[in-house]
Amino acid sequence: MKTVYLDNNATTQVAEEVLDAMLPYFRDLYGNPSSMHTFGGQVGQKIRAAREQVAQLIGASPDEIIFTSCGTESDNAAIHSALVTRPDKKHIITSRVEHPAIRALAAHLAGQGYRVTELPVDKNGVLDLENLEKSMTPDTAVVSLMWGNNETGVIFPVEEAAAMAHERGILFHTDAVQSTGKIPINLKKNAIDMLSISGHKLNAPKGIGVLYVRKGTKFSPFLIGGHQERERRGGTENTPSIVGLGKACELAAQNMEKENTYVKNLRDKLEKELLSRIPQSRVNGDTGNRLPNTTNISFEFVEGEAILLLMNEQGICASSGSACTSGSLQPSHVLRAMGVPFTMAHGSIRFSLSIYNTAAEIDFVIDKMPAIIERLRGMSPFWNSGQQACKTQ
Ligand code: PLP
Repeated sequence: MKTVYLDNNATTQVAEEVLDAMLPYFRDLYGNPSSMHTFGGQVGQKIRAAREQVAQLIGASPDEIIFTSCGTESDNAAIHSALVTRPDKKHIITSRVEHPAIRALAAHLAGQGYRVTELPVDKNGVLDLENLEKSMTPDTAVVSLMWGNNETGVIFPVEEAAAMAHERGILFHTDAVQSTGKIPINLKKNAIDMLSISGHKLNAPKGIGVLYVRKGTKFSPFLIGGHQERERRGGTENTPSIVGLGKACELAAQNMEKENTYVKNLRDKLEKELLSRIPQSRVNGDTGNRLPNTTNISFEFVEGEAILLLMNEQGICASSGSACTSGSLQPSHVLRAMGVPFTMAHGSIRFSLSIYNTAAEIDFVIDKMPAIIERLRGMSPFWNSGQQACKTQ
């Protein structure tokens, strides 16, 4: 059975060109970039080149790029540094829809005595900057807001938010894990102090990330050890993955516009057809301001995990907006923050596409989904009683 992979916000396929760029650094060029000999030194040169490739994609300087192990580490390192370098400030502002890499960290810090404000979003997942304005105080150390939401794709106005934070001397961090490579980012044109990237969301391997730290921003390392990354992150460099991420960033910079048009067209077709063929379905999130590859669709009165199981039987991979926590199926915190009604939130599916998807795959999914939802609704007491109620009204 063929796999139709529509779960690219979870992780992406490593691009062929990326793998090819990486392979020599496993096989032959395995020297330690910190070594004095030429064998290691040549690897160091390649790391410098990768740093430039990453910097190019986001409008940064190479020395503003710190390689990390993942997006989660980058997020943790950013918040950690903001708090350590501003020890007198005990307030953190974030949002209710952040990834756990920020949200769970903020909850942990709340337990350590920090005050955390989680900004709300409206029913479309949109952030109101007035709430940010009202929340900032002289005690605020850092504002951390994601650029693109991993579940709905909704884009936050992070450049405006960064400017607002800066006016008050507050540090601004953004989790750009989902938006890097999907929308243009130019850090020369905004006041963002720190930005997180994860390799495996943009066709580089898992286990590599970046934290951008604007020149002049005080930084305190999260991983303390050797002199790597100009004393900002200890640990021998993950050379093959750094080289791979550099290549992935180069490809993203070259192809972003063309690829986004292609992916957006497929996404829009999928969305339009599913909404028209499946009654009581709707899109979650601001459709006018989204990442081009993401759609989050609720199918009322069915359960997300059940939908995924039947999709899986057809070889279709996606994600559900509910998470099985401690035996009870809870709708995702993102959909709850948006106030999506319970019966809708439970049956939500995130489809996230990539350039590797084809029109034929999208047609296949459009063809299979209506029968999957119909079958599950046939078994749903809620759907059946809802239909009955409609008929008797
Ligand atoms: N932030 C966002 C918005 C994400 O979607 C993810 C991963 O899903 C992360 C952070 C964590 O990235 P990593 O898996 O590289 O730790």
